[in-house]
Amino acid sequence: MRRSGHSWQLVLFVGAILVPTAILIVVSQRTIQQSRELSGKRRADDARAAKERISRELLARLDALGRAAAQNPDGAHDSEVALAARVESGRVLAPWESSPETDRFRETTRQPAFAAAVARGEQAEFAARDTGAAVAGYRQALEAATGAVQSTYARLLLARVLEKQGRTAEAIPEARRILDAPPDVVDDDGVPLRLHAASLLAPYAAERGRVQQCLAATGEAREWYSPVATFTLSAIADQLARAAPAPDQRWLEEFRARIAAAIRLQEQMLALQNDASRLGLLQVRPAGAGSTWTFYPGFEPWLVAAEAGREGATLLVALRARDVFRPFEAAGDLRFQAATEPGGELAGDRLPGLKVVMPASGGDSAGPRPETGLYYAALFLVVGATAFGASMLWRSLGREMQLAQTRSQFVSSVSHELKTPLTSIRMFAETLQMRRFEDPKVEGEYLDTIVNECERLSRLVDDVLLFSKIEQGKKQYRFRPVVLADILSAAARVLSYPLAQHGFDLRMELAEDVLPVKGDPDALEQAVLNLLTNAMKYSGDSRRIDVGLSRRNGEAVIRVTDYGVGMAAEEHARIFEKYYRAPTRENQTIPGTGLGLTLVAQIVKAHGGRVEVESAPGKGSTFQIRLPAGSQS
Ligand code: ADP
Repeated sequence: MRRSGHSWQLVLFVGAILVPTAILIVVSQRTIQQSRELSGKRRADDARAAKERISRELLARLDALGRAAAQNPDGAHDSEVALAARVESGRVLAPWESSPETDRFRETTRQPAFAAAVARGEQAEFAARDTGAAVAGYRQALEAATGAVQSTYARLLLARVLEKQGRTAEAIPEARRILDAPPDVVDDDGVPLRLHAASLLAPYAAERGRVQQCLAATGEAREWYSPVATFTLSAIADQLARAAPAPDQRWLEEFRARIAAAIRLQEQMLALQNDASRLGLLQVRPAGAGSTWTFYPGFEPWLVAAEAGREGATLLVALRARDVFRPFEAAGDLRFQAATEPGGELAGDRLPGLKVVMPASGGDSAGPRPETGLYYAALFLVVGATAFGASMLWRSLGREMQLAQTRSQFVSSVSHELKTPLTSIRMFAETLQMRRFEDPKVEGEYLDTIVNECERLSRLVDDVLLFSKIEQGKKQYRFRPVVLADILSAAARVLSYPLAQHGFDLRMELAEDVLPVKGDPDALEQAVLNLLTNAMKYSGDSRRIDVGLSRRNGEAVIRVTDYGVGMAAEEHARIFEKYYRAPTRENQTIPGTGLGLTLVAQIVKAHGGRVEVESAPGKGSTFQIRLPAGSQS
């Protein structure tokens, strides 16, 4: 019956508190999830719109730069333009391949009068190995020369052969003059002629300054040199590095770094030449359609598109991607990267190979947002408060149930306590009624038993009545000076019959210096009787009980000691609770109501005193009542 009540309460508890809480948690979780998904979607939409806008703006800028470069491929470009290379018969011409200066060199040096003089010199130098005749031939060519190209070329041939002859004093001034030639006077490999002169002068310490100046000026003069020209520049730098005394190291390092960069750009150009048609870079979009700008990663990443030039020419325009991106990246919180890199979104059909990375589009799982935190905090609070309430409720339910249980136990034990003396009274009274006794002593014993049982009954009823008065707050104590020794003696007298009947040896030790206390003698006697009755009940096989009265620190101390079953330390606090009986095996056979010590504690408290217990299982127990003494006057 109790068990089913218990489980019913459990079901109620789960149904009323745990289930709604669980539902609340699940619903909240789903709401948070949904709101997160929604805001994630919104963010993704925003990011997509922003990306499309940026792509549009980027394309507009690229088209403008591309058109301008294509319209004027040989003129000065915007700084973002890396190159505008002509496309001829499906092949991209590298900037150095389509150089007009190279063509001019070929045409100019082929002019008959000049060409014949040069041929004579070369014939003498290489075929006849007559350097003297070669000098003469080249001098003639120099005289016949018209224009900077011819004269510079003839002078270079002359300086070289003079140097070969060992006539350095004559060779050097000629070479120096070539250094001053403009950088666009180049040979058919695209190498500026003045670089050949610089190469001739580099071994001479006195010429180093001029050579260095020439290299610097040549390096800066134009953007693209042919690979042969770049190689020549690099070779002269090496010559300078080897020559003594040591050259200006810092300058040399910087210069070499520039050459290295130029070489990498040439390599990139050559790679683009190879890739262009494979990547479909050479198809010009119809006018008005806008070009397709392919991201071409490399040493200097480019954006490449085919553009229509003047007179039906096709040009491959490469723009420096970093320079183009810079203003966009500076304006918005975004970044461009190659499509092969992880993260980001493809920039669009007209921007193949390119991705835009925006912080909001950096994946589906955006970091936690403040609303979510707030939501969780609120949920946590609600669940916490519910859990706290539930635990309080559970505890009070538990207490209530325990009380109900002890109360019903109390009713059954009181009934039992009443029934036992009543049965024996009835039995002895009936026997007496039949008057069959010859021996008057037996009759006297029967009467004693009846009286004793009646006293036991009265004590029990007294206890119950007192308890109920105290519970209702109706108990009134009648205080007056009380001599405690008298109380103890009276109590011993009341119990003398059951004590003797059960063979107890009660030892009283009453100090005489104990001052009277202010108290209710009936209540105090009832308290002592309860302690003595307990001492008898819980004595086990022991038959000794000590009762003492003493004075300590101005207090009167009543002590009741037995040597019986004792109790565990954890019981000490609980035994004073109402209805409480220690759940030991012995207690099941010992009758009791669980009220005795409760009353003792209440009475003593009303007298301004306190009860103390010392006990251990199997060692007996000592109860002490401490009352303030001598305060009655
Ligand atoms: P009860 O009617 O059960 O004796 P009490 O309130 O007098 O009720 O005592 C409460 C519990 O304290 C008892 O059930 C018993 O376990 C324990 N107790 C009381 N007095 C003693 C004692 N002298 N020795 C051992 N245990 C005791």
